[in-house]
Amino acid sequence: MSEQHQNLAIIGHVDHGKSTLVGRLLYETGSVPEHVIEQHREEAEEKGKGGFEFAYVMDNLAEERERGVTIDIAHQEFSTDAYDFTIVDCPGHRDFVKNMITGASQADNAVLVVAADDGVAPQTQEHVFLARTLGIDELIIGVNKMDVVDYKEDTFDEVVEEVNQLLKQVQFQTDGASFIPISAFEGDNIADESGETPWYDGRTLLEALNDLPAPEPPTDAPLRLPIQDVYTISGIGTVPVGRIETGIMNIGDNVSFQPSDVGGEVKTIEMHHEEVPKAEPGDNVGFNVRGIGKDDIRRGDVCGPADEPPSVAETFQAQVVVMQHPSVITAGYTPVFHAHTAQVACTIESIDKKMDPASGEVAEENPDFIQSGDAAVVTIRPQKPLSIEPSSEIPELGSFAIRDMGQTIAAGKVLDVDGK
Ligand code: GDP
Repeated sequence: MSEQHQNLAIIGHVDHGKSTLVGRLLYETGSVPEHVIEQHREEAEEKGKGGFEFAYVMDNLAEERERGVTIDIAHQEFSTDAYDFTIVDCPGHRDFVKNMITGASQADNAVLVVAADDGVAPQTQEHVFLARTLGIDELIIGVNKMDVVDYKEDTFDEVVEEVNQLLKQVQFQTDGASFIPISAFEGDNIADESGETPWYDGRTLLEALNDLPAPEPPTDAPLRLPIQDVYTISGIGTVPVGRIETGIMNIGDNVSFQPSDVGGEVKTIEMHHEEVPKAEPGDNVGFNVRGIGKDDIRRGDVCGPADEPPSVAETFQAQVVVMQHPSVITAGYTPVFHAHTAQVACTIESIDKKMDPASGEVAEENPDFIQSGDAAVVTIRPQKPLSIEPSSEIPELGSFAIRDMGQTIAAGKVLDVDGK
């Protein structure tokens, strides 16, 4: 184990190789338990197929994905010399963009996977846009499936050019971005330098991950734990589960769930199937609160200290960036907002200012509409109670994405919350 921890998002278009890359990273860093590999090696040999350990990792991931219920699915872990990495995004998840929103805002850095034979695709754009809006510091770009394009330097250069265009378009600081020709499937330039890319003299993916800047230290914000699901477990009772975004939870703490507006004393905290006395940011926990029944709380609630409860917004002001909308957005528009684990229809009550995205200066007061490419300050009224926080105070709970017609049309950060 290393000293420092990093949350890493793996982003990119469907089928470009995110899951395969996660499997490869786990495999190359020895993060798959030896007995698990051994067991599979024996099975594979019995079936007359030796040397399929990597395939085993992939099967295992696929199986977890199908089960789709464990809270561990997104939390594959591996280590380099400098860092313990947790993958905060989960490829193939039913709620992928949703996860991207919660995942990317918690991730310190991201690996963007772009298939060499396909180049920049719609979700490449969507994810890069979200990563930039939600505050990812640095991107490593894995140009994947190099084996499919015969490890051609020209193809790699074309993809690099295309991605650079995209980064420029969304104003992502590109200075720190590194591009690596990889094959997740064959293992080229992941742990070891590939013999197939003599024209490339940069770092391997694991070297690049190891060289990432250290993440910002956690804020001293109060406990905020968005509820992912609520279970009933025999012998314990009601068990909300979720991931601690900020603060600490101790047994005996008095907590409050908002917007459901109920609370009580924390009786037990469980992590990785073991009881623990306390839990910290990044921990996935199940816990039990005295007197709270299954129907008292729900997904989308946020748990915090009773004396510093999560904010509930009557209205809030936010800075949004419109990524793609077929026409124009005007006051009165009511799409679905995704913020932490909540999904709530919200009305854009007023468009207060249009900003120049390059300079950040106000370009127009009270514009009639905004459209794709625009950045604006807007006032938003949730149609149902929503717990959300100013990004300046608790950034982990201060960002959201706006979805409509099956697409992410905008993303934003909360400037100010007007509570109930
Ligand atoms: P995801 O949707 O981004 O998670 O993509 P997957 O990891 O599921 O990969 C999609 C398909 O591409 C699968 O059939 C993989 O076996 C294949 N694939 C992924 N990486 C590579 C690669 O580097 N080379 C080749 N040839 N195929 C790959």
